[in-house]
Amino acid sequence: MDGRPMARPMTEEFAQGQTALFTKKSVEDVDVQGKRVLVRVDFNVPLSEDGSVMDDTRVRAALPTIEYLRSRGARVILMSHLGRPKGEVVERFRLRPVAVRLSQLLGIDVQALPTTVTDQVTAAAARMRPGDVILLENLRFNKGETENDPDFAGKLAALADIYVNDAFGAAHRDHASVTGVTKYLPACAGLLLKKEIETLRRLISEPARPFLAILGGNKISDKIGVIDKFIDTVDGILTGGGMCFTFLKATGLSVGKSLCETDQVEAAARMISKANEAGISFYLPSDVVVAPELSASAPAKVVPVDAIPDDWMGLDIGPKTREIYSKVIARAKTAFWNGPMGVFEIDKFAAGTKAVAEALAKNTKHGMLSIVGGGDSDAALKHFGLEEQMYFVSTGGGASLKVLEGTPLPGLEALQDA
Ligand code: ADP
Ligand code: MG
Repeated sequence: MDGRPMARPMTEEFAQGQTALFTKKSVEDVDVQGKRVLVRVDFNVPLSEDGSVMDDTRVRAALPTIEYLRSRGARVILMSHLGRPKGEVVERFRLRPVAVRLSQLLGIDVQALPTTVTDQVTAAAARMRPGDVILLENLRFNKGETENDPDFAGKLAALADIYVNDAFGAAHRDHASVTGVTKYLPACAGLLLKKEIETLRRLISEPARPFLAILGGNKISDKIGVIDKFIDTVDGILTGGGMCFTFLKATGLSVGKSLCETDQVEAAARMISKANEAGISFYLPSDVVVAPELSASAPAKVVPVDAIPDDWMGLDIGPKTREIYSKVIARAKTAFWNGPMGVFEIDKFAAGTKAVAEALAKNTKHGMLSIVGGGDSDAALKHFGLEEQMYFVSTGGGASLKVLEGTPLPGLEALQDA
């Protein structure tokens, strides 16, 4: 991958540095002094059995915008979804535990309301003083959220004077709290949304080279768009995880019981040829860890990729592949990683993901820009205690892939231009 001519940049404007990375209004561009501000945040956090927040990364990520608004005497009305309650009240998806955590982080009492758009909420919003923060109940308890019902959006909007979107993780959704409310209120971006978009756009517009994409995880169909885009942009692609078996299949190998999306084999073959034509290095594993079934107690062994037994499945990249991938990562100056290299949730199949995470951490110390997107990739980093050692970990999996693909995000498009 070294010494190859610069890959084609995203657009000529980007290449000439004429396109700003962020062209929407942010909270810093509007007068929020004393206003009622309705803020869409992404508090879709994992909760434990006893109902406490297990990982508060997303709550912390929203703090800069909340603190900014409070420091200007705004009244902050927060709203988020949590899980997939499908339009009904589901007790275990209540947002109260998040309000408890947020209260600790802010050092003030954040009131959790038990509903979203009722008289009780209107009254609570009316009582707020400058600097107060309240949190509405889970938006998805109401069908109107995902259906983008104008009536629901209008009622949310009626609570405030200004709308701020700071939910990067939900910005690719066309939902009432993401796009619907912008029809009724002046709408701008929060600080997190702005930072995410700028970081990811800078990554594809002017990356330090060699620029590497490391792609794993389970479904290739979710990622074909971004792979296609990456072939135009990067110097090399490393593949692993469940999705590499569709690629291996496309090269004519038999993959046994491994995860394989038969309807994507043709697309996978196209990607490999496209990468070859573009002259970029497209890496497939040379060995894999296989087991007869996906379980911690299953016997596991390492085999070359051309010797996967018929009734076994590939669950991690093998030791030779780990070594090659680590070396390639050590030479990169920029790396985007999405998708674990194996079933890291089970120790036996975690070594590949760990090796990649460690190689990224090590090279980041030497100045590489390591950018990670994806919920499970983030969970893997936390599992290995390496999250702090990345340059940037995106709070949005699906949304980050959309930005890298160049697909417009409805939640961003709907905001006012700067
Ligand atoms: P992300 O959330 O980071 O975008 P994905 O959701 O695409 O990642 O994929 C994560 C899941 O892929 C993990 O739960 C992991 O167990 C699974 N996975 C990784 N490798 C394999 C494999 N070889 N076979 C089956 N599942 C796999
Ligand atoms: Mg995932």
